[in-house]
Amino acid sequence: MPRPFASSADLDDKTQTLELLADGVYALTAEGDPNVGAVEGEDFLVCFEALATPAAARDWLAVLRTRTDKPIRYLVLSHYHAVRTLGASAFHAPVIIAHDRTRTLIAERGQQDWESEYGRMPRLFKEPEGIPGLTWPTVTFSSTLTIDLGGDRGDLDLAYCGRGHTEGDIVAWLPRHKILFAGDLVETQAALYTGDAFHRDWASGTLDHVASFGAETLVGGRGAVAHGRAASRAAITQTRDFLKTMIGEVGAVRERGGTLKEAFAAVHAVLAPAYGGWPIFEHCLPFDVSRVWDELSGIDWPVVWTAERDRHVWDQPQD
Ligand SMILES: [Zn+2]
Repeated sequence: MPRPFASSADLDDKTQTLELLADGVYALTAEGDPNVGAVEGEDFLVCFEALATPAAARDWLAVLRTRTDKPIRYLVLSHYHAVRTLGASAFHAPVIIAHDRTRTLIAERGQQDWESEYGRMPRLFKEPEGIPGLTWPTVTFSSTLTIDLGGDRGDLDLAYCGRGHTEGDIVAWLPRHKILFAGDLVETQAALYTGDAFHRDWASGTLDHVASFGAETLVGGRGAVAHGRAASRAAITQTRDFLKTMIGEVGAVRERGGTLKEAFAAVHAVLAPAYGGWPIFEHCLPFDVSRVWDELSGIDWPVVWTAERDRHVWDQPQD
C-alpha cells in the first residue's frame, strides 16, 4: 500500500481555539493547522496571517468579530506560503504588509507554490474556487517596520530576523506585552516544514535574533501558544534542535558518500522518537530532507516546488 501523499488523507477538521493573550491581542490556534492572530489598535485592527482561502479567512473573522468590530487596517503576512496568504481578500485590508523578499518570491514561485500546497494539504483550502489570485503586498520592508497602535496601546514592531523558513519571514512583536508572533520561524509542538528554508542561517543567527526579543508569550506558525518565558524559549530550542539534527544527519550521510534515501532514513530515525507524533511530521520530512541535501550540496536558492516535483520527492524515500 503506498502511503497517502503528504497531508492529502488528513481530512478531519481540527478544533480551533481563540485565546486572548493580553488586552486586544488574539491568537487562533488549531491543533497544528496554521495559526493566525490579531492586534487591536485604538481604532483599527492589525491581522497577522491570512489562511489559505477567503472562505477559511471568513470563518476566522467571524470568530474575531465576536470580540471586536474595529475595522481592519493592516494585514501582515509573515511569508509567501499559500496557506498563509491566499485568504487575504476576505480581510479587505487597505494595507497588506510583507518583507521585500516575500514579494519577490510571490512573483517568482507564488503560482507553483499555490498548486503544490493545494495538493499537499487540500483540507486547508476551503472553497478553493473563491481565491481571486495571488496575494500582493501593498507595503514591503527590508529590516523593521513599526505600527503605532494609537492611544496608549504602544507599538507593534515588525522585524526581519534573517533567512529562515523562507528567505523573507518576518515576526510581529508587542514590546508592551512581550508577545511574539513568530510565523513559521518557530513551531510549538508541530513539525517544521523546511522545503524552502535556509537551514544553517535559520538554526544560528536567525533564531538567535528571534530569541533576543525575550518573548514571554510566543505564537508559532503551528501548534499551541507558548505561555511564559520558559515555554517560549523551549519552542525556539525545539525548532533549533529539529534543524540542527537534520543538518547533522544529512551532512554525515553525505560525507560518507551516502544517498538521499539514506539521509531520509537517518533523519527519520533520529527525529521520530521525539517529534514523530507531532502534526505534519511525516508529511514534511521528505521535502525537508530534500532541501537540506540541496543546501549542503551548494544549492543556495531553493528549487521551486511544483505538483510534479512534490510527487517525485515524495516517492523517493520508499523506493
Ligand atoms: Zn510556511
